[in-house]
Amino acid sequence: MASAQEIQPDPRARRGRFLARQVVFLIFVTAVLINPAPARASNFGSICDASGCVSVANNVQHAVRESGLLLNDIPGLRAAVTDRVRTVYDPLDLVAYVTTTDPLPDVWAHDDNYGPSANDVVAWVDCDGTNTGTGGTHPNRWCRGQIMRFNSYYYHFSSRVYDDDAQRQNVACHELGHTVGLRHHETVPAVGSCMYRIVGVNQTTILNPHDRAHINAYYN
Ligand SMILES: [Zn+2]
Repeated sequence: MASAQEIQPDPRARRGRFLARQVVFLIFVTAVLINPAPARASNFGSICDASGCVSVANNVQHAVRESGLLLNDIPGLRAAVTDRVRTVYDPLDLVAYVTTTDPLPDVWAHDDNYGPSANDVVAWVDCDGTNTGTGGTHPNRWCRGQIMRFNSYYYHFSSRVYDDDAQRQNVACHELGHTVGLRHHETVPAVGSCMYRIVGVNQTTILNPHDRAHINAYYN
């Protein structure tokens, strides 16, 4: 702030204030650049690792096929997948639906006894050599013909994963999330999302507002 006597400030003082203003401006710009939009912040984007793949979808039409590669080993799982497609995903900015005939679906649903997994991976998503199209670049790499694999070993020889509707809906919600680009929440179950990395008993069957914002921001 200028003092009362400073009617004509000398050039050096003016230059000092100008530099100070530039510093403030640079700090402001930097702050904007290092704060990404909240919807892109944490758990969205393609990735493949030892426990499967996360890919985005190539468009807003998301067809989930429940026959061909069959969902017939874990009782109630097909109903749970259908229910989550219609209840959780279709209401978003996606047109998500189940099909028994589409020869080129976005996602196949499949259950099989893959045996025990070292890390108890009870279900995962593949974009393997059977895919019917891939494209885009990370983190927006898309895959058509992804396969959701539900390991029925954990139905037959374990428990707390596929035992009741809530558990099956939780796992279905989780794997479907991977097929549209959602990654895990690593934090406590209090995130209120089926994308918490632990699935099964006592886990929620829905996405949280953060997940929904990611999907609605990407598919529109
Ligand atoms: Zn997962």
